[in-house]
Amino acid sequence: MAETRSPSFLVGGVAGSKRGTGAVKEKDDQQAIFQKKSNMGPSPTWIWDPAAALANARHEFGEHGGVNMSIEASATFTVMEPETMRRMFAGELGPDRDFFIYSRHFNPTVLNLGRLMAALEGTEAAYCTASGMSAISSVLLQLCSSGGHIVASTVLYGGTHALLTHFFPRACNITTTFVDIGDVSAVKNAIVEGKTTVLYLESMSNPTLRVANIPELSKVAHEKGVKVVVDNTFAPMVLSPARLGADVVVHSISKFISGGADVIAGAVCGPAWLVNSMMDLHQGALMLLGPTMNAKVAFELSERIPHLGLRMKEHCARALAFATRLKKLGLKVIYPGLEDHPQHHLLKSMANKDYGFGGLLCLDMETEERANRLMNILQNHSQFGFMAVSLGYYETLMSCSGSSTSSEMSSEEQALAGISPGLVRMSVGYVGTLEQKWSQLEKALSVLQ
Ligand SMILES: *Cc1c(COP(=O)(O)O)cnc(C)c1O
Repeated sequence: MAETRSPSFLVGGVAGSKRGTGAVKEKDDQQAIFQKKSNMGPSPTWIWDPAAALANARHEFGEHGGVNMSIEASATFTVMEPETMRRMFAGELGPDRDFFIYSRHFNPTVLNLGRLMAALEGTEAAYCTASGMSAISSVLLQLCSSGGHIVASTVLYGGTHALLTHFFPRACNITTTFVDIGDVSAVKNAIVEGKTTVLYLESMSNPTLRVANIPELSKVAHEKGVKVVVDNTFAPMVLSPARLGADVVVHSISKFISGGADVIAGAVCGPAWLVNSMMDLHQGALMLLGPTMNAKVAFELSERIPHLGLRMKEHCARALAFATRLKKLGLKVIYPGLEDHPQHHLLKSMANKDYGFGGLLCLDMETEERANRLMNILQNHSQFGFMAVSLGYYETLMSCSGSSTSSEMSSEEQALAGISPGLVRMSVGYVGTLEQKWSQLEKALSVLQ
């Protein structure tokens, strides 16, 4: 059991390790900072599952042997010898040996949440940020320079779309070509050799739930030396983009991973060289732009990750049940778990076993007026859910995408992305019983007719 305890526990606290016998390795192993408990190499008899990877991640105990880790609520860290400070700033001593400088750089509690995120996504490393948008903007600024070029999917979260369309060209002359990622040759043609460094997409796109062919797109990008960054906010546990070929996975933790609709947070999961470069004192986007996660927030979130798998299974099971029944009523439903969804079989071939097909579904009510009437009945008369943006909450959240989360896009851009004006996006919650919630939904639909 001792090996599962943190080094600081074994030597009696962080300061203890600094007072240690000087058994300090000379060579800095970049990966060591994000170390997992055991070697997770692929096994021929064992299907990779994020839940198994999470259970295998190092369990951090509290300073006094508490089953939960302690919160390192310090902005700054002390050293025993003045020489140690110089060595920390020179990069000779780092978090892998329990040497911390300042919490905008590494913080032990935030780093531990990063280890869980790395385990969840099957990447070497991960670090957490103050929001999903800061994770996205920081990783793109790390991978692109002024004058650089990104190829991105036409169907993206509105904030990301605005960042690439308006902010990056103005602020740093990074331009983006948007392509239909279902057309692999269009993606290939959009890549400008020597200029394009990133292919950016969402595993399951917002709000139209289009599923990306991650293995094929990664292959095309890698042939041209382009890194693949995938936003997996809509499908944690369900899809593991890095296991399918992507280089970097970004998350808005504010959604399913948090599950409480009470926190804004994000993460960058990827190779150790990238995460370390983002923390570099001279060139690191996270270190220098400073979208830092608070250690208290990191602690709270780390307590929710163990039940993420259970929550996702229930979100997905409810969404599939509602989608199937809504379709039977003759309504226009978009859900990747339905046979008629254009990427149903693709998703089946990529998805981790037994989690389902995602916790969101879209109902096309054709006009904004009908969409609004339905949502009004659902919230104010049948208590089915709440009119709110965001997703991954235990209650059902509904919004009309065209006039809310995708309103940064022009109507032409919306049409191109397949967002009808009456599209109601539902993040299906898991409170109550399925039959109770279905009867509320059914009643609202009959009132609308
Ligand atoms: C919400 C969201 C974001 C932005 O995340 P924040 O945590 O709100 O900054 C990015 N991508 C997707 C797909 C999202 O749903």
